[in-house]
This record gives sequence, C-alpha cells and structure tokens, in this order.
Amino acid sequence: MELNQRVAAIRAQIDAAAREVGRDPGEITLEAATKTRDAATVRAAIAAGITVCGENRVQELTQKLDQFAYDGAAVHFIGHLQTNKINKVVGRVDLIESVGSQHLLEGIDAYAAKLGLVQDILLEVNIAAEESKSGFAPEEMLEAARQALKMPHVRLRGVMAIPPVAQDVGGNRKFFHKIREIYVDIIHKMGDNRGTINCLSMGMSQDFADAVREGATLVRVGTGLFGPRV
Ligand SMILES: *Cc1c(COP(=O)(O)O)cnc(C)c1O
Repeated sequence: MELNQRVAAIRAQIDAAAREVGRDPGEITLEAATKTRDAATVRAAIAAGITVCGENRVQELTQKLDQFAYDGAAVHFIGHLQTNKINKVVGRVDLIESVGSQHLLEGIDAYAAKLGLVQDILLEVNIAAEESKSGFAPEEMLEAARQALKMPHVRLRGVMAIPPVAQDVGGNRKFFHKIREIYVDIIHKMGDNRGTINCLSMGMSQDFADAVREGATLVRVGTGLFGPRV
C-alpha cells in the first residue's frame, strides 16, 4: 500500500472506532511516529495529510528540524528527555508529550523562561508501574498537574501514556480506561485553570482503536503507517 492509502486506512479506523462509542471523529488527531524515518518520508507523510509528527530521539529531531522535514506539520517530542538535552527541545517543538518527572518539569520551565516563551507539555503517567518506563506514578499525577499549572513558562495540555505491550487483542483497553480517569480527574480538580487541558495521547499501531474507544484525542502511529522499523 502507498503511504497515502495507509494514512487514509488508519484514519478510517480511527473514525469508525470513534463513531462506535458516539464520539466525534474530528476530535481525534493522527500523529505519525516518525522515528527512524528520513526527511523525505516525513515530507511524504505530511503531503499525505499527516498534521502532527512525533519524534523520540533528540538527535534525530534536531537533524530533521535542520532539514525542515516537518514543514507544514506540528512536531511533538515523545521520547525520554534527559535534562541535559532540554535546551535542544524546548522552544523547538510544539508539544513535549513525555514529561515524566518533577525534575524534568522544572528544567523545562526554567529553560523556557530563559528563552522567554511558554512550552506546551503533557504529563506522562507510568500507568502499569513498569520499572523500565519513565513517567509519574498514577497517584503522583494530580500533584504534578498542580505544579505544572503554577509554572509560568509551561502550559499543561494533558496526559500521555505508553501502556505495556499487550499480550492479546484488547489487552490494553483497561489501561486506556485508567489513563482517561486520571486525565478527567485532573480536569475536574483544576477548576478555572484547566482551560488549555484538552489532549489525551495514547494508543499506537497495535491498539489505537481501543485507545480511541476509551477517549484518546491523539494517537501515535509508526509501523502502521510506515511499515516495520529496521
Ligand atoms: C515509536 C513510538 C510510537 C509508535 O509505535 P508503533 O508501534 O510503531 O506504532 C508511539 N509512541 C511512542 C512514544 C513511540 O516511541
């Protein structure tokens, strides 16, 4: 299949999953996870209708930014961000989705202050408490949101998560449900401050339809669009 056919096919699956649960498909964005794909492939994806690209390695992000690969689309950072590389990402991407510690949150706020800008972010939750993954523990999320909302150079936009690799079809739906509960809880408890919180990023190639059924507004798809990574 051609890339534009794959974009259309995945878009159609998102729309169908949304309608199944009575959601408006227009409130869900398909983000292309473009790690390991070259600038030409990224440009082709944007030409095929992709409006958001997600990158998870700083060096790759920087390279492709320098090649103007993302022109015409928004760029998100979705990988593990080390504090010593904050300066390469803040102010260069539209959204940092993977803010999973207080230390990183403070670092981003401080660097954005230095640049005189406000950085949009999501808080990442380690929903299954996996040792190997970064992210706030579920019970830390409300306090992290409270902190983020107090920071003048950070704009909290929502929640992101990468659940465990599911062993069977539908295996992650329960995690998506829990992630959404955390997201909704933040919105409800933050009162007047919650204005800009409208992004729930969850679901990848194997499980994005279930993520949509459980309320995702942003799904991150790599192999489903571009084929296997080498
Ligand atoms: C690579 C990646 C994806 C996409 O994964 P696929 O299984 O290829 O769809 C989604 N989210 C993050 C954070 C990623 O690093």
